[in-house]
Amino acid sequence: MGDNRNKRRCSFCGRPENEVGLLITGLNGNICDSCSKQAYEIIQEAMKVKGSAGSLDLKELPKPIEIKEFLDQYVIGQDAAKRYLSVAVYNHYKRLMQKSDPNEVEIEKSNIIMVGSTGTGKTLLARTIAKLLKVPFTIVDATVLTEAGYVGEDIESLLTRLLQVADYNVEEAERGIVFIDEIDKIARKGDNPSITRDVSGEGVQQGLLKLLEGSVVNVPPQGGRKHPDQKMIAVNTKNILFICGGAFDGIERKIAQRLNTNVVGYGAAKETVKIDRSNMMQYIAPQDLKAFGLIPEIIGRLPILTYLNPLDRDALRNILTEPKNSIIKQYIKLFEMDGVKLVFQPEVYEFVVDKAIEYKLGARGLRSIVETIMMDVMFEIPSMKVKEYELTLEYAQQQMEKTNISRLQNA
Ligand code: ADP
Repeated sequence: MGDNRNKRRCSFCGRPENEVGLLITGLNGNICDSCSKQAYEIIQEAMKVKGSAGSLDLKELPKPIEIKEFLDQYVIGQDAAKRYLSVAVYNHYKRLMQKSDPNEVEIEKSNIIMVGSTGTGKTLLARTIAKLLKVPFTIVDATVLTEAGYVGEDIESLLTRLLQVADYNVEEAERGIVFIDEIDKIARKGDNPSITRDVSGEGVQQGLLKLLEGSVVNVPPQGGRKHPDQKMIAVNTKNILFICGGAFDGIERKIAQRLNTNVVGYGAAKETVKIDRSNMMQYIAPQDLKAFGLIPEIIGRLPILTYLNPLDRDALRNILTEPKNSIIKQYIKLFEMDGVKLVFQPEVYEFVVDKAIEYKLGARGLRSIVETIMMDVMFEIPSMKVKEYELTLEYAQQQMEKTNISRLQNA
């Protein structure tokens, strides 16, 4: 029997089992440790060629207008932000395709910052654009940075997720895009940079600056805090595009203050500047971010500043039914799977929007309101022998009356 064992060979290099470190047996063949190692390297190499920067072809990439059209299918309104994002992503590809030639004009990256109240679609935009990106993409939250304290090192963990998405292929990760959510949470509290420094805010911002401006940083492969026995991965952030988003609660006041002061000077002379007070966000300028507590160096590294509009009645109404995977379409689909055609009385939509506005629930509230209205029907319909169900305004009103609204507000 021992003899027999020795006759087993690696099907790739032909060496017998007793001459190799380890022989892995398959159905119709075997592979030795060194051949499997070599096979792995060949695969790695092949994958690298497939996914390398050279493989991006400008002709095949979606143009900014096409990127925006894609975003339009999922996100209502927010045209300014969509246009900026589309151009930024397209330019990012172009930069990646540039050959490193000292005689060429070097295109520098333009990181983006999007400002808009909570629930206006910042994360939705980021998630949607991720669906059509040709490079690794991840969403990270800046709030974890403040929690980690003011030891700047932990900032690098923002790139851990990107490495993971790129399957730890560093070269791939270095061409990726990172969406940093809640960037406003690392702002310095108060507008006074003097003696009473807010260490956590400013320390984190200094650390972040290093990532934004492009440098080689050591990333902990498993994230979290660095610790001595964790092997770090060096990542160059020069080509990573950063998109930041934040609600910047109360920044409208800073904008108003600035606009009011301006009116005395240049603006007053012209007398034509009309300010739309219902949407101050559209006038946002870099100095407002500074007044809010971002350090000028960070602002300088986020040269593209764009905003999201507050959602008005029409926007909320559209969000309910228009996007490709709108809340209403999702319910219709759910019923369809039970063989039931679900129809809404159009008044129900208006009612849902009214409630969202009345209780200041915003776009996030639309889902919880519809969920509340539909709960009992969803419970009963699958067992009922009906082919069609019409949801009436009267029924919707009844269901809402039964509900404790404060529960929705906490959602
Ligand atoms: P933010 O990141 O700005 O706080 P989100 O993008 O997470 O807000 O939006 C919360 C939810 O509200 C989304 O999942 C989506 O259902 C809905 N929503 C918000 N804004 C829009 C919009 N402009 N178009 C479509 N849906 C939206």
